[in-house]
Amino acid sequence: MVRGLLCPLRSLTSGTPPIILCTMQIVHYPHPSLRWKSQPIQSISGSLRRVVREMFELMYEAKGIGLAANQVALPFRFFIINVSGDSDLSDQEHVFINPEISNQSGLVEGEEGCLSVPQLYGQVKRFETITVEAYDLDGQGFAMDLDELPARVVQHETDHLDGVMFFDRMTDTDLQALQPQVDEFVTVFRHDQSTGTTASDAELTEQLKNLERDGLGG
Ligand SMILES: [Zn+2]
Repeated sequence: MVRGLLCPLRSLTSGTPPIILCTMQIVHYPHPSLRWKSQPIQSISGSLRRVVREMFELMYEAKGIGLAANQVALPFRFFIINVSGDSDLSDQEHVFINPEISNQSGLVEGEEGCLSVPQLYGQVKRFETITVEAYDLDGQGFAMDLDELPARVVQHETDHLDGVMFFDRMTDTDLQALQPQVDEFVTVFRHDQSTGTTASDAELTEQLKNLERDGLGG
């Protein structure tokens, strides 16, 4: 399998809903999915539950505390968090499907990183407190009033669903200092595409469009 190329949805037998048969992976900038405006989830399926479980595993392996669907090349509006980063603390696992942020107030600067640009960190201003409304994996709507780290993570992950990277929100001066590292990610990604290790932007974009059209299946 070509790295960065998500396997197509396939039916095991004709008539059964399509399922994702291939292993997911966290994609790096500038994979086109990281600039995708994701589509709302229409229904909670078994496929979505399996994808979410696998995303938690990938997130823990990578020592992250949040992961958006775009980061595993899925163009759908959901993300997961566990701000403890500890897989043993599963009570801190939360899934946010079709999230909407409201009641933003205050501004606070803090350091952020991202599993799609490993080892790159920068200062980002975020709202200090927010309300987030979303659906969980049972299809139940919920609302949370958040501050501190959970508020920051939810804003960072919601940005992913709109194709926004944390460094887009840095000051020009801070970004200038970081730009060589951002450029290095681009260089590596383009190199992998030139050697065929990673699929071309056209192929990756085609896959995202197919997924949007077909959904996650049953
Ligand atoms: Zn991120």
